[in-house]
Amino acid sequence: MLPSPYDPGRVLIIGIIGGGQLAKMTAMAAYRLGLRVAIIEHGTPSPAGVMTKLEFPGGWNDPEELDRFTNACDIVTLENEFVAPELLERVAERRLVLPEPRTVALVRDKLVQKQTMARAGIPTPAFAAAQTSDDITAFAAGHGYPVVVKTRTFGYDGYGNALIESARDIAAVWQRFRSGEHPRELMVEEFVRFRMELAVIVARNRRGEHVVYPCVQTIQEQHICRAVLAPAPIEPALAEQARALARAAVEAVGGVGVFGVELFLTEDGRVLFNEIAPRPHNSGHYTIEACQTSQFENCVRAVCNLPLGAPDMIVPAAVMINLLGERSGSGIPDSPIEALGHGRAWLHLYGKNDCRVGRKMGHITAVGNTLDEALGRARGAAEGFIW
Ligand code: ADP
Repeated sequence: MLPSPYDPGRVLIIGIIGGGQLAKMTAMAAYRLGLRVAIIEHGTPSPAGVMTKLEFPGGWNDPEELDRFTNACDIVTLENEFVAPELLERVAERRLVLPEPRTVALVRDKLVQKQTMARAGIPTPAFAAAQTSDDITAFAAGHGYPVVVKTRTFGYDGYGNALIESARDIAAVWQRFRSGEHPRELMVEEFVRFRMELAVIVARNRRGEHVVYPCVQTIQEQHICRAVLAPAPIEPALAEQARALARAAVEAVGGVGVFGVELFLTEDGRVLFNEIAPRPHNSGHYTIEACQTSQFENCVRAVCNLPLGAPDMIVPAAVMINLLGERSGSGIPDSPIEALGHGRAWLHLYGKNDCRVGRKMGHITAVGNTLDEALGRARGAAEGFIW
């Protein structure tokens, strides 16, 4: 029986698999609610691992370290959907894991994920498994070029994606993903001509209560999220359609916890499902300053089965800009002080040990009366940030 988070004389410990920035911001929310966290990550220091004495730096692939971590927690959640299913099952034999391993299993493989959505009647881009390169050729013959090939697992920030513009590209992409020691399972999708990319955060607790955050616009460059605009500058009816679709997507995987749902708004005005993440999401960082309850606090509340907090924005507009690494080397930026001098803008540095080009090192959220005002403030604070 899981203790109530507020049983007298007993502080609940939430175990988080992963020690990056998502775990760190979740831990901050947990501490604010008087709870504690344990962190398992490969190596130390990690952004969240250094926050707790219950740090397990041996990583989840070491079964003994995983068992020690499990024993130290009352309940377990994750910041990363790439943990091997058998390891998650091992934890679940002893502790409640939320989102449940069966939910994670439906999400971690992008093909299974899209099949699950399609079965639930949720509109997605056309897709198919690509077991041979002929499958890609056949798919493109049916849907036209370009097409997008994706690795079914372990893709993030676009690392597992390749655009195929004509039949001539297929062999090289096939070679890139299928050769080597660990050939990757692939799928192929139609290339979506989108007007905009959207995202919605949904929190759902064990009682099935849920809250749906506002629909936001995400701006990606080279497949990495650069900025988030909240609320998305689109017609209210489209935003509502996106929010309903996101809620349905979380229900389709039986999700408990917090989920980020990424969507396309197509040039011809359709809202399509792109991807679901079973954890707090980059597109929801703005909720810390701009919403009544942050995605991180609602993650804590959802897994502890506490009542969920309202997701409404408390300001008219907010913009989040990711601070991406621009060099290899120390994780400490050269010039963070200037970014602190901007009103209605908040700096978040994740405290990563090492910087790499394109790595998410921190973010800035600014608020305003309009998106333009918030964007100007966020850009002003992010300007001149150097790693
Ligand atoms: P990841 O899991 O790496 O974040 P996604 O599947 O979300 O990968 O793709 C990353 C980005 O690539 C998307 O945000 C979008 O900009 C682009 N993208 C992905 N799939 C498609 C598609 N079918 N058509 C057009 N662009 C796509």
